[in-house]
Amino acid sequence: MSPTVVYFGNTPLLGYYTLFRDETKLDINYIPSRLLHRLTELNLLSQFFSFILRFPGKMSQRVLIAGRVGTGKTVLAQFFGLQLLREARRRNINLHYVHANCREYRGNMSYILQKILHHFYPNFPVRGYSLEELLQTLMQVLDDENTHVILALDELEYLIQKAGSDPVYQLTRLQESRSPHSPHRLSLICILRRLETLEKLDESTRSTLQHNIIVLDEYSKQQLEDILNDRVELAFKPNTVPSDTISLVAELAEAERGNARYAIELLWRAGKYADANQLNLVTPECVRMAAASIYPNIRKSDIVSLSLHERLFLLGIAKAFNQTGKAFLSTGEAEEAYKVVCEELDEKPRRHTKLWEYLQKLAVMGILKTRKAQVKTKGRTTLISLPWIPAEMLEKELYKSLNEETAG
Ligand code: ADP
Ligand code: MG
Repeated sequence: MSPTVVYFGNTPLLGYYTLFRDETKLDINYIPSRLLHRLTELNLLSQFFSFILRFPGKMSQRVLIAGRVGTGKTVLAQFFGLQLLREARRRNINLHYVHANCREYRGNMSYILQKILHHFYPNFPVRGYSLEELLQTLMQVLDDENTHVILALDELEYLIQKAGSDPVYQLTRLQESRSPHSPHRLSLICILRRLETLEKLDESTRSTLQHNIIVLDEYSKQQLEDILNDRVELAFKPNTVPSDTISLVAELAEAERGNARYAIELLWRAGKYADANQLNLVTPECVRMAAASIYPNIRKSDIVSLSLHERLFLLGIAKAFNQTGKAFLSTGEAEEAYKVVCEELDEKPRRHTKLWEYLQKLAVMGILKTRKAQVKTKGRTTLISLPWIPAEMLEKELYKSLNEETAG
């Protein structure tokens, strides 16, 4: 009898073996060379901005892009920005596209304006200017440079949540404060998840923003498969990701409301499982393993971006859900739980009004949900729920991030 040779695929398992060709193609910040299934929206954007290329300085534009997580809002704006820059260069038009994520700037408009100023003058001093002064300086700089900036304000809800109407109002009114025939220098692309967030803005700001709205629908399973296929080709070695696997990823992501971000992250993680187990294919089982370890609504980076006391507050809430087994917590119960956590970790608790701010922020981030309710004895109150992540999992993640912080 001849000896049985067991092959792990047809690749000898020597040294470090990986199925990836280039992981960066699955990075959330990667801008693909083609944008699938968003041609209509891309054309619409081009139309909205076409006169800026034809008649530079004569007008400015405001466009709103809305859609759920992972519907391609960010990538649509960035892709369009690149395309517009290329076209402007071809026509010798001086134009800049600046993409600013309001979450990364902690909802602070001054930081965002400084980013644009640094784009032109890297040595521009960082501190000491009010929002009004920064805006005036910016306009002066754009006049000096004789240029037009298209500013994309991504995750606008963070700006609105932090500062209300004011910064957006000032941006949309810039031209009115200038002398009548001065050129238009600044256009806006505002990006947010839910149009309802705009209700927090004052009437006139809202109406100036609402003229040109592009709403991105959830991707279908087939559309997600197309997007995934493109990425598989770039990110993995040939014939390592079977179509079954792609189909399963697309199906899971469709169930998460057509979330392409989840689809791509799932694919990446499935690849990691395959590598860890030294497989020569990314099998559907790898996808199932990956799916068990990601919560589509909550990114780890979200938790990392929280301040210490925001994390402690969230930890209190997670622990309270864990211990009580309840579906809803009142704000009073959350506050109590937070105080216990502070005591446990030897931190001085923040005041009630701060906690209210934290709660709003966590709700905007989609980590928890709040709802007003009538309670018999106490009148109206706010109830907190945690519909998207197991409390136990959240508690663990928070402890981990707190430990990493104190260790590092
Ligand atoms: P959103 O900003 O709406 O949450 P993103 O723009 O971040 O969504 O998209 C999520 C991920 O899916 C990104 O990696 C992005 O490159 C990818 N993606 C989304 N839509 C498309 C598309 N139409 N074609 C190619 N890749 C896409
Ligand atoms: Mg985005």
